[in-house]
Amino acid sequence: MNLHESEKIGGILSARGYVATENEENADVIVFNTCCIRENAEDRAEGNIGALKKLKAKNRDLIIAVGGCMTQQKDFAEKLHKTFPFVDIIFGTHNLENFGTLFDRKLSQKKSVIEVLPKEETIVEGTPKFRTSYPNAWVNITYGCNNFCTYCIVPYVRGRERSRKLEDIVSECKELIAEGYKEITLLGQNVNSYGNDLENVDFATLITEISKIEGKFRLRFMTNHPKDLTEKLVKAIAESDKTCRSVHLPVQAGANRILKLMNRKYTREDYFQKVEILRKYIPDVAITTDIMVGFPTETEEDFLDTVDLVKRVGFSGAFTFIYSKRKGTPAEKMDGQIDEQISKDRIMRLIDLQNNTNREQSKEYLNKTVEILCEDFDEKKKMYLGRDTYGRMAYFKSDKNLIGEFVNVKITKTGGISLLGEIV
Ligand code: SAH
Ligand code: SF4
Repeated sequence: MNLHESEKIGGILSARGYVATENEENADVIVFNTCCIRENAEDRAEGNIGALKKLKAKNRDLIIAVGGCMTQQKDFAEKLHKTFPFVDIIFGTHNLENFGTLFDRKLSQKKSVIEVLPKEETIVEGTPKFRTSYPNAWVNITYGCNNFCTYCIVPYVRGRERSRKLEDIVSECKELIAEGYKEITLLGQNVNSYGNDLENVDFATLITEISKIEGKFRLRFMTNHPKDLTEKLVKAIAESDKTCRSVHLPVQAGANRILKLMNRKYTREDYFQKVEILRKYIPDVAITTDIMVGFPTETEEDFLDTVDLVKRVGFSGAFTFIYSKRKGTPAEKMDGQIDEQISKDRIMRLIDLQNNTNREQSKEYLNKTVEILCEDFDEKKKMYLGRDTYGRMAYFKSDKNLIGEFVNVKITKTGGISLLGEIV
């Protein structure tokens, strides 16, 4: 999500004649697009901004801007302005699409431009994009979130859920395919509640409509909320020959008591049922997830429920996080915050478990031929890489640049999560 927003900021600057540089010493403009989902992201951003003071002293014309969900918190934006007065532009998430106007204003005045809007805007279409992830293209379908999970800051910094019009999304996808993109990833905090604020459309309709676009391409989407994963949607995914056989379905926790405290609106039994529906219509589906450990009051027994759920589902991948206290969320005020050492121990146990599962699943790939969309070249390994429909990464050699091509790769070696193969 943040990455695609950076592509929009890049697009706005590129429309003004700026070009990208790898070297910050050469830059005329540096924009930080911050994230506040966890505390360590915030700390890192502050360190990186502070480090630019020297550069600004050397080059007085350098424009430094900071935006994103961290600066959407008004008190943080004010603190940032006081701590780093050399920052020229501070903006939030609600006016990201308006960055161009703020930038132009800064060019015509000496004073810093600080603008953080209290309320989200309606959807702004047509922002130029400086895309950086060919052959994949990110496409927003919803903004904001209505779920208010008790640990999460997103609804406060990104506002209520708004869906883009189906026609706008489909026409953006058509253009991208015509331009040569080979994979589209639909983005939203909760893609499967797409259309709740529109008439007569839902996420299943959107999948079906995008799948009708001609040409060979892959369709992915993230993130799904388990409570909104309907049988109708699963059928639409199963019937679409464009949609990848992988679904990211964040579970967060395996104990019902914790799920309730998190306000996730489903139980572990509901989650198992969603997995069952997915596997009924798409038997080979790869399910990935997000899991959090150390939520306030989480006991060893609760954690073991998470371990049990992870074992039973057999995820193809899991992003694991230690709960991080976020200002203004209900969980911040909860009693029973968990000691960091306990959380670290729990996350390590989970990571070990998931790594083992991945190793076992990788073995099944040996000597199989899979279709890979070549995405990049790894300079260190001197190999190309890409993913199969299940999202599994494979590396392979080629004398020819294959980025953006579909290739058949026979898997000759398997390690942890990635695979090694030869083009056949
Ligand atoms: N909308 C998505 C998630 C967006 S945030 C969803 O509901 O699944 C991505 C992940 O960050 C979440 O799934 C969660 O696991 C993690 N996360 C969010 N808030 C967090 C917090 N306060 N501490 C630690 N992890 C958090
Ligand atoms: Fe945050 Fe929950 Fe919304 Fe995801 S669904 S963005 S975790 S509030």
